[in-house]
Amino acid sequence: MITVEEHLSRIVGTVRRLPPIGMELLDAQGCVLAQDVTSEVALPGFRNSAMDGYAVHASDLEGAGEQSPVRLPVACDIAAGNTQALNLAPGQSMRIMTGAPMPDGADAVVPVERTDGGLALVVVSAAVSVGQHVRQAGEDVAVGDLVMRDGTRLEPRQIALLSAVGTGRVMVTPKPRVVVISTGDELIEPGTRPGFGQVVDSNSPMLTAAVRALDAIPSRVGCVRDDARTFLSTIESQLVHADVVITTGGVSMGAYDTVKEVLSRVGTMRFDKVAMQPGMPQGFGVLGEDEVPVFTLPGNPVSAMVSFEVFVAPALRLMAGRPQYETSLVTAVATHDWATPPGKVQYARVVLSRNGSGHPSGHPSGQPSGHTVAIAGLQGSHALGALAGANALAVIPADVTSVRAGDQVLCHPLGPITEAS
Ligand code: AMP
Ligand code: MG
Repeated sequence: MITVEEHLSRIVGTVRRLPPIGMELLDAQGCVLAQDVTSEVALPGFRNSAMDGYAVHASDLEGAGEQSPVRLPVACDIAAGNTQALNLAPGQSMRIMTGAPMPDGADAVVPVERTDGGLALVVVSAAVSVGQHVRQAGEDVAVGDLVMRDGTRLEPRQIALLSAVGTGRVMVTPKPRVVVISTGDELIEPGTRPGFGQVVDSNSPMLTAAVRALDAIPSRVGCVRDDARTFLSTIESQLVHADVVITTGGVSMGAYDTVKEVLSRVGTMRFDKVAMQPGMPQGFGVLGEDEVPVFTLPGNPVSAMVSFEVFVAPALRLMAGRPQYETSLVTAVATHDWATPPGKVQYARVVLSRNGSGHPSGHPSGQPSGHTVAIAGLQGSHALGALAGANALAVIPADVTSVRAGDQVLCHPLGPITEAS
């Protein structure tokens, strides 16, 4: 038996960040930048108005107020999109819109709300200071600034900045392409009704969805029989277009455990018992010329899901150029007792709840509100009903033999955490 850490460290020591490729910016959403980006432009690109109002010389409005309004002639309008260079003569104003270029000579903008909105002549009832309501060229990004580093994930905000500095294509780490294969003679395709002794394949839909939820690219292969030749030819044909292969089933101690039987002899595959519950039988290694990482997960659906979370997800993140972990564990207080297996890490399916709204505005102290955790129904590794009702895995260390009400428990969230009812 090996520990979870031992198995995981073999995995993260094997997988590599994928080689970079060029992509259109919008296609690269969710990918990680594989280059530094330096801006060749300034942002803002030109001095412009932050308000709808009047471009002025601040000195012309000295002493202006409600009781002492100042009148200025309006020389012209400047709308956003104006590309003409203009010059504001002293003692004059120009009606200007948000984002429109400031005329030379003008050093401030009076918001329209502080005027009568006049078209030929404007009555201004407030003074302004130099630079007020003016966005300076380059105040956000200067020419030559390093605006984004290698390793940055491209989310909407990053895509906005890269667009603004004129980036059309980017070098990124591609999303890993993940082939998902279910094995088992009992399996039938999703969408069909099982007869006696048959089981609908729920692992490959689950893992396909889990891969997609992680921003990788799944490719689901239908169920494969427990037949050595069929399985081997399926996996060989899939290796060519996979960055990762995940199989489920056929890795325990049964007589028809084909996956283990076939793959024990190829590549660097190794099959281990890992001290965890569920998910004890695990296989991992690289196969084929391209040394594609292959995860052979146990067939019980809950075991497969837990294995994905604990072993596959960190590997996929690293291959995508992301950190191994992107969310942290949540500490919660157990609301009742439950049993845990001796000598194994327990990944209990639990409901993790937040006390209070969890929104900072709902807490005068601004403090996080605390969490509670309860077992989410039947804990068997076949129990899909309880799995679907859970929103977290409680991670109970191998040396803990029982959880008691009131104990602090570390939880690995699987989905949104709702308010305790
Ligand atoms: P195995 O790991 O092949 O011994 O399978 C263990 C248990 O998981 C058996 O009860 C299988 O029927 C079930 N199982 C295996 N693969 C799947 C699958 N793709 N979908 C649902 N259940 C499965
Ligand atoms: Mg099987």
